[in-house]
Amino acid sequence: MRTITAAKLWDGTTLLDNPVITIDDGHIASIAARASGEPDGEHHFPAATLAPAFFDVHIHGSAGHDVMEATPEALGAIGRFLASRGTGSFLATTVTAPLDMTLRALDGLASLIDHPGSIPSNGPTTKPIGIHLEGPFLSHAKCGVQPKEHLLAPDISTFDKLYEAAGGHARLMTLAPELPGAIELAAHATARGVRVSVGHSDATAAETRAALAAGAVSATHTFNAMRALDHHEPGILGTVLTTESLFAELICDGIHTDPAIVDLWWHAKGSERGILITDAMSAAGMPDGEYRLGGFAVQVANGRAMARGVLAGSVLTLDCALANFTRFTGAPLEQSLRLLTVNPAAMTGFANQAGSLQAGQPANLVAVDAQGKLVASFHNGEPA
Ligand SMILES: [Zn+2]
Repeated sequence: MRTITAAKLWDGTTLLDNPVITIDDGHIASIAARASGEPDGEHHFPAATLAPAFFDVHIHGSAGHDVMEATPEALGAIGRFLASRGTGSFLATTVTAPLDMTLRALDGLASLIDHPGSIPSNGPTTKPIGIHLEGPFLSHAKCGVQPKEHLLAPDISTFDKLYEAAGGHARLMTLAPELPGAIELAAHATARGVRVSVGHSDATAAETRAALAAGAVSATHTFNAMRALDHHEPGILGTVLTTESLFAELICDGIHTDPAIVDLWWHAKGSERGILITDAMSAAGMPDGEYRLGGFAVQVANGRAMARGVLAGSVLTLDCALANFTRFTGAPLEQSLRLLTVNPAAMTGFANQAGSLQAGQPANLVAVDAQGKLVASFHNGEPA
């Protein structure tokens, strides 16, 4: 039995003063307020708040590896790094690649999700709980760094091939609503349980609203790879910012979006619908140099990942995203924490596995200070 005490605890809903968590066999045995005179826990954080571990719905890699390698070794290296940075769950995110390469990667990822024990874990290791398909059904005009030659027109039979290869683990798909066939595909994917996220798109407001009516529930890295805001044709961005029910991702590294734009997004989406993501690629957690994203080379210098003159993913971690967000907006911690825990879990339908702290769950939690900086991370009850 291990105990953790801190100044406060936020379980996903409420704040508790002077908490004590007991951990048994990697799981949370109890959460309570400390009785007066009760000693400090084995791990004690007198100035920090305990909170659920973070959930990243958009991450391509870290620690020198890309999820599309889809090997136990690659996912083990990524998972050890993520656990150390407070991320307790993630969706392994593919980039657009030749279809046969994507199908192979999905097949490998599906078997690793089905058999998490096959991922080597010498130490706390975060394992993927689902897959995010970023492409191939994206706009040529707003593809960012996604290779144009492998983009495909939305097509139900191609989607079904991807869905089958992913063994039912595809939980999220980024889709450009303006492409021919996109609305039918949004409805089809939604019916199969794959959440649709609008993005990499040059859509008008009407095209975006049609995708939302067909079931789309979120937006992929709001502002990035999206038609810019126009006051006569609000487009996808205007629709994302003003549709109250829609979740919306943001890359909060101060590079993909200016701090003033982060504040605008916060005012628009708020603590119920905002989702902080990393969009991290293999260079996250590594020194500057040349790395891979899916099938192409990316140069990383001074925190900027570039390929062919375009931003190519990030080297962000969610703990830094939280600290940046707190600095840029001044939002209170119990609101900003929702953006990395409760909201991504609700959007993807994983609220039973991630995003909250409850007795009986695996003890995946963080301690963060008042500035949103990570103080400690625990994965399955072990300090990571
Ligand atoms: Zn991405």
